[in-house]
Amino acid sequence: MINHFIDLRSDTVTHPTPEMRQAMAQAEVGDDVMGEDPTVNRLEELAAEKMGKEAGLFVPSGTMGNLTAILTHCGRGDEMIVGHLSHTYLFEAGGSAALGGVHPFVLQNQPDGTLRLEDLRHAVREDDPHYPTTRLIILENTHNRCGGVVLTPEYMRAVGTFAREKGLKLHVDGARIFNAAVALGVLAVDLVRDADSVTFCLSKGLCAPVGSVLCGSREFIARARRIRKQLGGGMRQAGILAAAGIVALEKMVERLAEDHRRARRLAEGLSSVKGLVVENPQPATNMVYVRLGDMVQQDAPQVAEELEKLGIKSHWVDSRRFRLVTHYWVNDEDISRTIHAFAQVLR
Ligand SMILES: *Cc1c(COP(=O)(O)O)cnc(C)c1O
Repeated sequence: MINHFIDLRSDTVTHPTPEMRQAMAQAEVGDDVMGEDPTVNRLEELAAEKMGKEAGLFVPSGTMGNLTAILTHCGRGDEMIVGHLSHTYLFEAGGSAALGGVHPFVLQNQPDGTLRLEDLRHAVREDDPHYPTTRLIILENTHNRCGGVVLTPEYMRAVGTFAREKGLKLHVDGARIFNAAVALGVLAVDLVRDADSVTFCLSKGLCAPVGSVLCGSREFIARARRIRKQLGGGMRQAGILAAAGIVALEKMVERLAEDHRRARRLAEGLSSVKGLVVENPQPATNMVYVRLGDMVQQDAPQVAEELEKLGIKSHWVDSRRFRLVTHYWVNDEDISRTIHAFAQVLR
């Protein structure tokens, strides 16, 4: 019986740290829908400060953060420009279309996670009653499906400038913006200075149990607060959750570098396993994508099942590929065990 699983499926599986549990138990709370939860208020202020924005809004998930942002920026029939591999386009259950009537204009993500400025230029609609109205551009940083890659401050600025010139809004899905900042050796602020809004997750590499924060101008967040309420995301004594988020922001950001180091070690180790092709041999952040070579007889779900018997949980993204994510609860020994386990199960 295995009692310690090495869980590489995602950094969302991270449990709160002992310090977070302590902070949660002792959190001062109030009714946040009435604006009276001091801990939520403190988290929102801290988050806004970290993003260089005027205000923040605590939301239950990154998905609700992005949806709230889209519904605040766009009306029905407006258009948002998104990448074809973006989380918002692929993995948010079509919420912006279902609930907001927002039309997606889908551009090809480049392998480095960016949208080409040239493509953006072509995507912006002319003022013509045949067309939806272009309103919003969404960038993702780090870019999950592109291998956890980081988009540079220069690129973020270039798109922000472009958006401003065209009278569009820029939203950043920064679920893992701190991974990007730490990997680049910059502050998160440097990545979102030109964005009108940004969401980041507390519940991924930062280890908090629940929650994301949407940040933007005071006026934007006031409107977003009403949308959050419409979506059912107004929470009451949410300070219990926000307390963990404060610890996440204050104590868990710098250490993300360790996850990145372990991801590099994992990629390096797996590169020498016969039958595996590491797609990003030098991972930018905490994600390693690997593919089964043609000679491997098993498919990814079968390999995953055999790995699980050895105590390793992995996430297969298609029949030949895996995504492996390092995080706080994965240590150096776990990396070695994972490399050995892959070598052991592949036939
Ligand atoms: C995880 C994630 C989100 C939000 O996910 P939730 O599970 O709803 O918190 C948004 N964008 C990206 C890129 C993500 O990886």
